[in-house]
Amino acid sequence: MEMLHSPTEAGGLGFCHDALSLLPQGYHGPLVISLDSNILIDLREHGVAVLNNGQIVDLEREYARNLEGLGTILNLWLVRDLRFVVTPRSLTDARRRTDRFLASHAPAVEAIGEALAFQIGDWGQRAPSNAPASPSIGQETGLPIGADRDLILEAQSVRAHIFLTRDKQVLKQARLSGPKLAIMTPAAVAELLVGSGVELFAGGTCTAHDCPYSGWPLPFPDIGKWGPLLSLF
Ligand SMILES: [Zn+2]
Repeated sequence: MEMLHSPTEAGGLGFCHDALSLLPQGYHGPLVISLDSNILIDLREHGVAVLNNGQIVDLEREYARNLEGLGTILNLWLVRDLRFVVTPRSLTDARRRTDRFLASHAPAVEAIGEALAFQIGDWGQRAPSNAPASPSIGQETGLPIGADRDLILEAQSVRAHIFLTRDKQVLKQARLSGPKLAIMTPAAVAELLVGSGVELFAGGTCTAHDCPYSGWPLPFPDIGKWGPLLSLF
């Protein structure tokens, strides 16, 4: 999993602990975000509007705010080194929920998971959703035993920095021990990034002389990273 956290030119400009305190002390690298199944489904349902900063109408206000937040995150992802992880359980869970509500969309949700997953410079690399789950490295005690708890433990086990979800119970009740994992809504993450001064081509990094991003030569990432996602819409 080390590569998931390694700065690469193809990934674009990453992030540093000094600018984004939810990252581990002394960290300079990609911001790794694990996606809950509800986020995959949101992307399927509203992806075009989200990516085009389009008007999202007729939706409850909080939901609309989260979709806008997701749009902000995806726009940053086009240029900055954000890496989305879709863990095996998240994909299975999205599939299960799509089976229930939108049977015909299941393959598309899966394709989105594949397109967003695990960008490490080799954009054709198989996603961790195809790999066996990593063993847990912490404990979750606030949620009932079940998929939600497993999803969070999986995200923690790949050392994601953020678990992105809209699930209110997860946001409110999750109590996690072990390596730090921030459990946040898309709106909260967007607010944090923008509030921390993260912009497309600047911000979010530190001024340490040994920072891998100081004098970063190519702020623009390999466009191979966008292709799979953009081709879905
Ligand atoms: Zn740095």
